[in-house]
Amino acid sequence: MRTALRTFKIAALTAAALGALTSASAQQTSAITPPPAKPEWSGQSGASGHPQMTAEAIRAAAADFPNCLERLWPDAARRGVSRETFINHTAALTPDLRIMDFLDAQPEFVRPLWEYLDGLVSNQRVLMGQEVLAKYRATFDQVERAYGVDRHIITAIWGVESRYGDMAGDRPVIRSTATLACVGRRQAYFRDEFLAALEILHRGDVRPEQLKGSWAGAFGPTQFMPSSFKRYAVDFDGDGRRDVVDSIPDVIASTANNLKKDGWVSGQPWGYEVELPIGFDYLLADRARQITIREWEKLGVRRPDGRPFARPDERAFLLLPAGAQGPAFLMLPNFAVMMKYNPAEAYALAIGYLADRLRGDGPISQPWPRHEPVLTRDERRELQELLLSRGFDLGEPDGRLGPRSRVAIREFQVSTGLIPDGFASADILGRLRNR
Ligand code: CA
Repeated sequence: MRTALRTFKIAALTAAALGALTSASAQQTSAITPPPAKPEWSGQSGASGHPQMTAEAIRAAAADFPNCLERLWPDAARRGVSRETFINHTAALTPDLRIMDFLDAQPEFVRPLWEYLDGLVSNQRVLMGQEVLAKYRATFDQVERAYGVDRHIITAIWGVESRYGDMAGDRPVIRSTATLACVGRRQAYFRDEFLAALEILHRGDVRPEQLKGSWAGAFGPTQFMPSSFKRYAVDFDGDGRRDVVDSIPDVIASTANNLKKDGWVSGQPWGYEVELPIGFDYLLADRARQITIREWEKLGVRRPDGRPFARPDERAFLLLPAGAQGPAFLMLPNFAVMMKYNPAEAYALAIGYLADRLRGDGPISQPWPRHEPVLTRDERRELQELLLSRGFDLGEPDGRLGPRSRVAIREFQVSTGLIPDGFASADILGRLRNR
């Protein structure tokens, strides 16, 4: 379920970025031409090949949409949603089939991590974040006292999820989640989100016209999914409503509460950028290998600026997101908490990095391997198939390079005497092709 959410949130993030660009350019030209209508569904079958994603299945499910919603009424009633609320918010509802295109979007070109970080941790986003921190200083003081979660992390989530609120999405959450609950390949997952969204409206926590967000139903400055809202949202300003869209105290405190409930360790950083000594054994860079910082120091691991580690008894694992040619990081338990918010390594790294910049730290000091060509999705699948055919087990090839692929690449590197950093480079693909 976490993996599914990650895909939805990342895709939604990209869609939100595209949406913002479109609306900005529409505003500039609106004096001359009317703004373009929202693009409709492509009418195409989805790239996943899932039987519920064929054009025919999507059309059939769309035709059955009112019946599907009515079938969800008993579940809504069990959650305390009144018939009146249910009718008010579903009677005139039509499916937003454009979402089916987003659901199965499989971009061929995968954005390199360094470009992703450049975009999310720009100087502009750092400056905007510092303004947010100054403006809401008193609220952050109160929230830190109540929840023990670092204000810079909360501000970084706010900045990455919605660029401090101005890219939170404009699709009605009820319509998006109803569409996904009744059409396409993720209906079981989204039934719960749709029902949770109805509960929010029934309780009056968020005003209906404000309950807008990404195509996947994430809403508000820090992009709560309706089910996460249920678990984590709090009424911090005491007006009786948990309004994670319009009340900044509620937004900040609810996000802090989410991290706290997910295990945030108060006063501990998320991780450190580190430098490795010459001749370092890269097999130690393994998520499963959690040892104390003191032990890492004995192995020659240092901070680039020479500053000491705050608490040498904390346990950490070593991450090399771009292989031996890129920066290295020691990751503390709070990194895992950030990955619960949105389980993608790149996402959690962006949050941690932006938080450090907001705190006044400089950029990551070691260079990224920007010269490295990034493998396309097809090339990634080919790499996986070649590894499989050589006897390196990694499960079903899917073009996504997860932990199992990383282990298989590493084993291949060991077998050929290369530095075993697990990074899927064009060089590795070339070597596999030529064997
Ligand atoms: Ca409130």
